[in-house]
Amino acid sequence: MSSASTAAGKRYAVFGHPVAHSLSPRIHTAFGRASRIAVDYRAIDTTPANFTTALSVFADAGGAGANVTLPLKEAAYSLCTDSTERARRAGAVNTLIRRDAHWYGDNTDGPGLVRDLTDRRAWDLRERRTLLLGAGGAARGVAPALLDAGIGALFVVNRNPQRADALADQLGDPERVHARYFDDLPALGEFDLIVNATSAGRGGGDFPHLPASLLGRRSVAVDLSYGESAIPFLAWARANGCHDSTDGLGMLIEQAALSFALWHDLEPDTDALYAELQAEHARLVTGD
Ligand code: NDP
Repeated sequence: MSSASTAAGKRYAVFGHPVAHSLSPRIHTAFGRASRIAVDYRAIDTTPANFTTALSVFADAGGAGANVTLPLKEAAYSLCTDSTERARRAGAVNTLIRRDAHWYGDNTDGPGLVRDLTDRRAWDLRERRTLLLGAGGAARGVAPALLDAGIGALFVVNRNPQRADALADQLGDPERVHARYFDDLPALGEFDLIVNATSAGRGGGDFPHLPASLLGRRSVAVDLSYGESAIPFLAWARANGCHDSTDGLGMLIEQAALSFALWHDLEPDTDALYAELQAEHARLVTGD
């Protein structure tokens, strides 16, 4: 098989707003290089209002697949003619595949997170009492996968309570899933797993106050964002004695690997790239 011919003429992209910061072009290019597939993958900044048009221009220009990031994942789900069950349960799409002149949607965020936590970090998620902060596109993607991984009760807390209610309803598991307010947090007790799926650390307003009572000696904490955006939440978790913590870099690479496999039928190795990007981010965050 000629490597260049595999993806010849096909284009891939990540759509978001803003998207200039995205590591996805670099990750997919690196996967392509390691897999000997010539990958044309770019970042395309588009507002929610222009998303449909931008996507159809992209399809006309040979767009064969795309990732979708903040704040377009729910809109991407609505644009798809069909989607996987995990995308339907999330009501959000992070991976688009062009099939027969239509967009087919999938969501690799949740499986990407679970792979990072269970395979790379060897965290056992079973029966973990879990707090999910946020109910946006990322929270929607990870919640079904966490439930499938066997967590115990899942409490969803969001600044806009209607969004938390809508996510809890969509998950359709009232025995395990409960929507709560930020004001309820002091009364909720300790959690084994806390997932920050808000974008609060990206500077879009004050980081919400979180009581120390949420954490115990066996609690683990994960921020889906990475680099400087992950600092406020992870600093809070570490200062209050969590057992272990991580940012979302591993998830980012794993969800990308799953998207890559959907488009190119080949699953790339992720360990070397994770080590490279983690070292780079550690230097940036510490200023070394
Ligand atoms: P969305 O814009 O869809 O949702 C943002 C969420 O953050 C909403 O729940 C919103 O609450 C909440 N939020 C924003 N600012 C604040 C604040 N100041 N206080 C409390 N809550 C706040 O974004 P996504 O869900 O797509 O992304 C969320 C984060 O996850 C981002 O940082 C993103 O980079 C990261 N991410 C990482 C991935 C990875 O692979 N590692 C993949 C996907 C996302 P409200 O509804 O009230 O506005």
